[in-house]
Amino acid sequence: MKDFRIFDRRGLLLALGLLLTSGFFATTLFGYFVSKQAIRDAIIGQDLPLTASNIYSEIQKDLVRPVLISSTMANDTFLRAWVLKGEGNVTDMARYLNEMKERYGAFSSFFVSDKSTIYYTGEGVLKRVSPNEPRDAWYYRVRDMKQDYEINVDPDLANADALTIFINYRVFDFSGNYIGATGIGLTVDAVRRLINDYQQRFQRTIYFVNTEGQVVLFGNQTSRAPDLRATPGLGPLVDRILKEKAGSYQYLVKGDNHILNVNFLPELKWYLFVEQNEEQALAGIRRTLYTNLAISLVVTMIVLFLTHLVLSRYQHRIEEMASTDKLTGLLNRHAFAILMDKLMAEHHRVPQPIAMLLADIDNFKEINDRHGHQAGDKVLGSVAAMLLHDQRQSDIAVRWGGEEFLLVLRGCDLTEATRIAENLRQKIAATPIAVNGRQVNVTVSIGVSEYEETELPDQTVDRADAALYEAKKAGRNRVEAATGQGQAQEPISVRL
Ligand code: GH3
Ligand code: MG
Ligand code: MG
Repeated sequence: MKDFRIFDRRGLLLALGLLLTSGFFATTLFGYFVSKQAIRDAIIGQDLPLTASNIYSEIQKDLVRPVLISSTMANDTFLRAWVLKGEGNVTDMARYLNEMKERYGAFSSFFVSDKSTIYYTGEGVLKRVSPNEPRDAWYYRVRDMKQDYEINVDPDLANADALTIFINYRVFDFSGNYIGATGIGLTVDAVRRLINDYQQRFQRTIYFVNTEGQVVLFGNQTSRAPDLRATPGLGPLVDRILKEKAGSYQYLVKGDNHILNVNFLPELKWYLFVEQNEEQALAGIRRTLYTNLAISLVVTMIVLFLTHLVLSRYQHRIEEMASTDKLTGLLNRHAFAILMDKLMAEHHRVPQPIAMLLADIDNFKEINDRHGHQAGDKVLGSVAAMLLHDQRQSDIAVRWGGEEFLLVLRGCDLTEATRIAENLRQKIAATPIAVNGRQVNVTVSIGVSEYEETELPDQTVDRADAALYEAKKAGRNRVEAATGQGQAQEPISVRL
């Protein structure tokens, strides 16, 4: 009967497994997405703006003051008068420039006269500027520009080409005519260090962009400034960003979400870009996600394993208790009904003959009366044991009533079943049962029937019962085969 289970353990384990995994999955993923959104909100709402404003105030300290100094120089009466007087004593000019540089801790200071094209520094005359010299292009740009000043990052000719931030201020005479450019330069190293420090501390990319959309200052000194318009994801956004002047933007680079915060710094006429690769920020919670999923998986496996263990241990006993008759160890009628349903379902898939044997102990009442009820029980047990002895795995043996037993034989037609019944009858008749030290001879009468497609299993049992009745009527210790469902009620008597 092994292939007939009343409880479906695999189904239960499967359902439990599905329930646990879907539950764990749902909560873990929900938690992940909530934290992901929280992190994204924090990046957009706090982290990037905070970094941007920190950097801005640091930069302001470093850059706005030089702008003011340069403005002071451009409006200085001495400087303008000295130029208008014909740029006489170079030492005076050099002393002035040197003084401005020293006083404000600048890296260099300069004046370029438009009339003489001489480039003055704190040391005196550096050179003459020429429109044909590419390195002097800045001067001609400043000369022609509309605004008062520009901030420009260039190698400093006066200081071994060290990369320098210049504030180039236009100078006018007292009647408003352009006479040259002045200003100071500061090394970008300090600003760079600051940017680098922020980048490393917050895992962010920070750079300054001019109104043309070109990167003018960024942390990494060794690599070239990135070309924003050529950056995948960001390129198409550049013009919009420049127009909007401030805001948060998101774009994808190779599937990674980048969040960008932009602020326009009017004093510098530069945009401050602070960018974060969201995937990096999420790496932590992604690790947590994987850990949680792994833990969930392990817990599910343990629960399933333990359930499997407990079920295996108890299922057999539970099934036995629920489905077998205590006295004989055969199945009870309740179990029969369940197994019969399964058998029928299987029969519909793969049709095969099914035979039923209904056996009833002859004159059992007498055995009880003569030897006592307990002896009767013993006889019931012995007969049941004989029925079970020859039983195949696929057969079903049921204690049908008091001293009545039903055998369901799969893959067995009426003729074969009748032969089996006859063998059983003979075997039981030939086997005395020891009761209270005495040998008791017991016989059974058996009615046999074969399941027919048009009937219900109960009807097959009824026909076996009718055949059994005929066997009793014909004198007991006999086997009778039932007629077919629609045939004459007269059973065929078989005596092998
Ligand atoms: P027949 O040959 O017509 O079958 O006669 P019978 O005496 O076997 O049939 P009957 O139905 O008259 O008697 C059955 C008896 O079986 C009556 C009942 O007390 C007894 N019986 C039923 N269940 C048990 C049981 O669990 N233990 C014992 N000891 N006796 C039982
Ligand atoms: Mg009987
Ligand atoms: Mg009976």
